[in-house]
Amino acid sequence: MSQAPAAPLDRRESRLRWMDSLLTALFLLLLWWLVAEILYERAGSLSQRVELRQQSWLQQASRAVDARLETLQREMQLFGQVDAGLAQQAVSLHPLENGQLWLLQHEQLSQPLGPRQPLPASARDNMLQLLAQRPANGKMLLLPAASAANPDRLQVSMVVCDEHAADCDRAISGFITLTALLDPELLLSRPHFALRDTQGNQLASYHGDENGSNLLHTHSTSSQLTTVPLQLSVQFNPREELRPFMLFSLFLVGGGALLSLLLMLLIVRVNRKLGYAVRHSREVTQATHLLTLTNNSLRERLQVLVDEQRDQQTLIDTVQVGVLMLDAEQQTLLTANEAALRMLGFNRQALFRQLPEQLFADAAQYTQLQAQLKEQQLVSEREVELVTRSGERLWAVLSMRPLLFRERRAIVLSFVDITERLLHAQRLEQEKQTTERTLAQLQSTQHELYQRATRDDLTGIANRRHFLSNAGKALEQARREQQPFAVAVLDVDRFKSINDHYGHAVGDSVLRQSATTIAALLPDVALFGRLGGEEFAIALPGFSLLEAHALLDQLRDSLAAQPQQVDEHLLLVTFSAGVAERQLCGDLLSNLLKEADHAMYRAKRSGRNRVESARGANI
Ligand code: GH3
Ligand code: MG
Ligand code: MG
Repeated sequence: MSQAPAAPLDRRESRLRWMDSLLTALFLLLLWWLVAEILYERAGSLSQRVELRQQSWLQQASRAVDARLETLQREMQLFGQVDAGLAQQAVSLHPLENGQLWLLQHEQLSQPLGPRQPLPASARDNMLQLLAQRPANGKMLLLPAASAANPDRLQVSMVVCDEHAADCDRAISGFITLTALLDPELLLSRPHFALRDTQGNQLASYHGDENGSNLLHTHSTSSQLTTVPLQLSVQFNPREELRPFMLFSLFLVGGGALLSLLLMLLIVRVNRKLGYAVRHSREVTQATHLLTLTNNSLRERLQVLVDEQRDQQTLIDTVQVGVLMLDAEQQTLLTANEAALRMLGFNRQALFRQLPEQLFADAAQYTQLQAQLKEQQLVSEREVELVTRSGERLWAVLSMRPLLFRERRAIVLSFVDITERLLHAQRLEQEKQTTERTLAQLQSTQHELYQRATRDDLTGIANRRHFLSNAGKALEQARREQQPFAVAVLDVDRFKSINDHYGHAVGDSVLRQSATTIAALLPDVALFGRLGGEEFAIALPGFSLLEAHALLDQLRDSLAAQPQQVDEHLLLVTFSAGVAERQLCGDLLSNLLKEADHAMYRAKRSGRNRVESARGANI
């Protein structure tokens, strides 16, 4: 068996796998390029938004700080100018720490009222230092005053003098936190900001969140604070802004990764499926190839079988023997040849409708044949009487044997029509019988003719011609053998008177009984015949004259000693006889008979009931 072509499939599988991988890689590249593009675009817009928000926020914060400081400046100046004593009362000057102000006048520090904190020495020094610098009236000075609790704490100081005073020795001071200068909502995003002077010295700082971003923005405070030009720097915390971006990025990257993973899994599965499909396809191709080969082989075998079957059918149809095939179990006809159809007078369809036993004149005979087949596996040349479609009898010699037909147990019946042969045999038998009868008749006729030709009608013994013939032959034989041969002629005495006295029929009976009596007493070799009338002759081969004479005497005595019963008559019959012998009278039968006849007449003349020998004989 040749192998199915696998190489093209392998190449195709390899090409498909390469295509898959390439497409997957391209798709993933495109996917991640898109992700990156989206993230980049989002990051860009986020950055812009954060920048804008930061600018806005910083401006807002700066304005708030400027506004508060300006307000504070005016209020502090107002407090200081009106009455220094009022400063001590100003316990709620917002946004100062605890709303508290300290007044320093002539280096005398007024103590705040109530349970307030004393002014730290460093703060007092700051105020003294401020006064020593003689700043302009109403100018505010901010100094760092961070404490452990408030790192954004500032000391706010201001010189407050009369407008006309030559020497200004009065200052007010309080504390303020940077956060107090800002709107509370600005602190919600917990920024990190610092307030510096123009030299960059940090005055106060606020760390809203240790993890704040590193974005740093600065904004100059109002120029109105001439004594303290300030810089507000802010480290903006963009967490809130970044969170959606981060979430979106996470979602996008996670989704992309998941999609990639799924795609790769899909590709792996597809490749696996592809491999399976290719293998399956290869197996299918091989199987198809194998099936094709098998199919071709089967078709060829089938063709061979069909040819064989056709040949067999042709062969079966050709033979002049009827062939029927029966299903052994179903007892139905499977097939029949042309000869069977012709002999039974059926067409194929009509025959197939018949049950097997319906084809037999005697259904019991079929059952009997089946039993024999079952027992001996063969039924050989049985004479059966079948029935043709027209109901005629068909004499056949039938054989049955089991066989396998198309993988079924079947029985094949073969039969030869012997109807003609039987009829011929019957005709022959009849002819034979007729011939035999004719022959018998002929034989009978012949016998009768022979009897008639050789026998005397009245007495049944040899007639004259037959006697003469036989006696001639016997004489000839005796002559050849040099044997004695005697001849006797007998004549019933006074027979005419019996006829006359009792009738002709009685005379006939006397003749018959006399002949019968004499024949019974003769030896086997003797030839006995009726010469005519009441005259008889006897040939005695091997008898000398004396022996013949003695025998004739015994016969005469026997006949004379037994009266014959004819009807109601008892008659004594005698005869006279003359004897001649070959060796004395020659070998001519006529001579011998003549000599014997002469001797017989002598016996008549001598008184009858006597036997005389021919002349020349020594008696
Ligand atoms: P003999 O003693 O001299 O011989 O006397 P016979 O009367 O016998 O002699 P004959 O020759 O005169 O008579 C013979 C007779 O026999 C004459 C004839 O009528 C008779 N006969 C001859 N043939 C037959 C026959 O077949 N049947 C009968 N019933 N009579 C016969
Ligand atoms: Mg006579
Ligand atoms: Mg006579």
